[in-house]
Amino acid sequence: MTSSDFKPSAPLHRDPRTLLVHGGRAPHRFSGLVNVPLHRGSTILFPDLESWDRASATNPQEQYGRFGTPTTRSLEDMVAQLEGGYRSLVFPSGLSACCHALLSFLKAGDHVLMTDNVYGPVRAFAQNVLARMNIDVTFYDPLIGAAIAREMRPTTRVVYVESPGSWSFEVQDVPAIAEAAHRAGAVVLMDNSWASPLFFQPFAHGVDVSIQAATKYLVGHSDALLGIATASKAAWPVLQQNTHYFGQTAGPDDIYLALRGIRTLDVRLHRHWETGLALAESLLDHKLVRQVLHPALPQDPGHQLWKRDFTGASGLFAVVLNPVGEDVVKAIFDRLQLFGIGLSWGGFESLVMRAEDAWMKKREGWGPTIRIHAGLESAADLIEDMRQAFAHAGKGAGC
Ligand SMILES: *Cc1c(COP(=O)(O)O)cnc(C)c1O
Repeated sequence: MTSSDFKPSAPLHRDPRTLLVHGGRAPHRFSGLVNVPLHRGSTILFPDLESWDRASATNPQEQYGRFGTPTTRSLEDMVAQLEGGYRSLVFPSGLSACCHALLSFLKAGDHVLMTDNVYGPVRAFAQNVLARMNIDVTFYDPLIGAAIAREMRPTTRVVYVESPGSWSFEVQDVPAIAEAAHRAGAVVLMDNSWASPLFFQPFAHGVDVSIQAATKYLVGHSDALLGIATASKAAWPVLQQNTHYFGQTAGPDDIYLALRGIRTLDVRLHRHWETGLALAESLLDHKLVRQVLHPALPQDPGHQLWKRDFTGASGLFAVVLNPVGEDVVKAIFDRLQLFGIGLSWGGFESLVMRAEDAWMKKREGWGPTIRIHAGLESAADLIEDMRQAFAHAGKGAGC
């Protein structure tokens, strides 16, 4: 059994719900088993030298376990189809997928336009690693839209988009940005983790490489780290070749967990969406709350763009408090019973975290901001838990 058993196939079904169930499977090749088995391995043996030479000439990716196994191909095939791209590559973490996608398209002397609300560790990578390689980075306002054309330089090779931002939730005009980028000869890389491929189709909106922190909704159970980058047909050779130079590979156990998790992505995401929106609405009128950052709320500044380009919302949003003391934030966090305090999101469980990255610090007049991930618990229970924590903190704050 070689990994070529999962040559990327033509889209099986346009409806992602059917694709999620039937994609990446081949029972007739694996003793009738419904799921692709977990394949482990480094060395791949060949029966004679001639077959080895043939593989070297035609498909070197089948000669060594670092390039993956049928388990790897199964997930890559599934995600490429879901995203509407050409082919995908798995990485050992979401951050690794972001950084290697960037490196693939950049060389010394180039310029990158990166959204200012970018995931913090990607900003750190740009400022510490790309800068060291003499690659210049400009952070642009996520609401820039078509005016990004004015930021283009002759050396601009990459525009890096994340929409909505995972702490501040601005929705970007991705088609307008992509058009300006392409006119200037740059490629568009997008972190599409918030919406997942179910709620935003990156390639239909001009993106060249879409990145999933699969750790979040694709795995969906907080039990594995994984990243996936998917490329258009034109961008694929650059992505594939350049990332392989680094020897990136993901373990089959984590890939198997992603395949296990992804089957229920549609069911889970609809629940995350519904519960997250109900929670967001329940917080709108609280005295402690200045603003709820959730693109699916009609009053959200990004709502029109969200309605135009997205087909749903995930369970991640944020609440900006009025300027209050640290004691109020602490009272809310410590009083909550059903929300864990911790990083990441996209699992079945609810979480809260303080939102305070470099971009958030630039927002004037905002009090502390709490990021909320709505899990799969009962919405009524989550709303009640939030209500009692805010009521408790509000009493302390005299409102
Ligand atoms: C978590 C996250 C990542 C990185 O994923 P890891 O698997 O934790 O490395 C990238 N982008 C966004 C928006 C994220 O939230």
